[in-house]
Amino acid sequence: MDDKSDSVIKDDDNNEYEKVCYMCRQPESSVGKMIRMTGNMYICANCMQRTFDLMNNSAGNNTPHFDTGNLSGLNIESLLMPGFLNGDFGGIPKSQRVKKSKPKEDKAEKGSAENEVNTLDFRKLPPPHKIKEQLDDYVIGQERAKKIISVAVYNHYKRVTKDAAGDIEIGKSNMLMIGPTGCGKTYLVQTLARILNVPLAIADATSLTEAGYIGDDVESVLSKLLKAADNDVERAETGIVFIDEIDKIARKKNSTTRDVNGESVQQGLLKLLEGADVEVPVGAMSKNAMVPMTTINTKNILFICGGAFPDLEDIIKKRLMKNTLMGFNSDLKDKYDDDPELLSKVTNEDLREFGFVPEFIGRLPVVYALKGLDAEMLVKIMKEPKNAILKQYQKLLALDEVDLQFDDEALMVIAEKALEKKTGARGLRAIIEDFMLDIMYEIPKDSSIGRVFITKEYIEGKGGPRIVLRE
Ligand code: ADP
Repeated sequence: MDDKSDSVIKDDDNNEYEKVCYMCRQPESSVGKMIRMTGNMYICANCMQRTFDLMNNSAGNNTPHFDTGNLSGLNIESLLMPGFLNGDFGGIPKSQRVKKSKPKEDKAEKGSAENEVNTLDFRKLPPPHKIKEQLDDYVIGQERAKKIISVAVYNHYKRVTKDAAGDIEIGKSNMLMIGPTGCGKTYLVQTLARILNVPLAIADATSLTEAGYIGDDVESVLSKLLKAADNDVERAETGIVFIDEIDKIARKKNSTTRDVNGESVQQGLLKLLEGADVEVPVGAMSKNAMVPMTTINTKNILFICGGAFPDLEDIIKKRLMKNTLMGFNSDLKDKYDDDPELLSKVTNEDLREFGFVPEFIGRLPVVYALKGLDAEMLVKIMKEPKNAILKQYQKLLALDEVDLQFDDEALMVIAEKALEKKTGARGLRAIIEDFMLDIMYEIPKDSSIGRVFITKEYIEGKGGPRIVLRE
């Protein structure tokens, strides 16, 4: 990362960032031409006028009406905060500055991968089967989810292209992903954003609050996205926002008081999901007087919400049973108890029952479930993805010219230990790191070691790894 990323911009004339008014913190694109002061500060015409008005009123003098076109004779700097102006005050940090938007022709010419989606030419977008193929390299299982997400994303970015402009407006493909902890929801979205090369912001619904309450306003998710897009508003406007733990903002059942947090956060998110111009603080999570603001249009931002939705299975089961009991199949009433596909039978009615307002559900038209991971899938996750954890250790030891191998039985024991933790694939790394510590510490001590087998006994603490010496 650029360690100077937050440094102050010294000369604004030739750089890619917009000028920001030192007083109201608005960028030049919103408030118009700026007046440059000593100390690398800029003041917009409005603030300048307000300062004059203030001075007129308080001092009763006859300072002339301010006119941006007629500044030459005025010593404005001495009128405005004279104490600040002796040295280089330095202006506003980069993290709080938005990038200048590029001229139209410039954008059309650039065909680089980075601009692929920004140029809005959907012919350059990978088709759904290619997106899925690339997801397959990283995400194990979840075939149906990968297929749905590939098609939805393809359609979403297709509607963003100018070719799609016309009288029929294609609806947004915002998504709701349901699946237990650690089954790959976040990972799927992260991989997707990398494949498409679009900025991604990950937010936690539990930290969001209605404006005015302690916590982050819903707009903070857009501030994060802007940051991920390197303060480039146009890039942010075609990015992806992932809101995790969305089930936590469901209306609480059996609650007698009006649930301020959950339902009102849902209401707050509605306009973002649908597409609106939203005032967003730049370089900060909440609005306050000292933070510059910019406007982001969310029409082409893809929102993906995810959550574990505990108890949703019961709601689905209850609904299905009701139907069954009303029919002739009442003898099959426990047939849903062990149905692994139960979550994928979710309907809007179930989500409403879970505690979501209909408008919110309506703005997430693509709903799908991810499966909980079983031991075999966990073994595959350790071994198969492009950056699989076992491959990472193998590579590290290969640098010491040691060949690291894992017995299949050992991997099965690790998978079972992870299952016990009930944190899905998330628990794998901690377990593996625990026993790999000794290996990584001991092996480089002895240069005669050529190969190490991690055995089931070693994982269970009943023996050591099998070691083969160099010939
Ligand atoms: P959650 O569903 O709770 O968002 P994550 O996506 O954060 O879970 O998963 C945690 C970690 O587990 C990921 O960073 C990834 O390394 C691994 N993981 C989870 N599911 C899969 C999967 N299906 N394929 C590959 N890796 C996975």
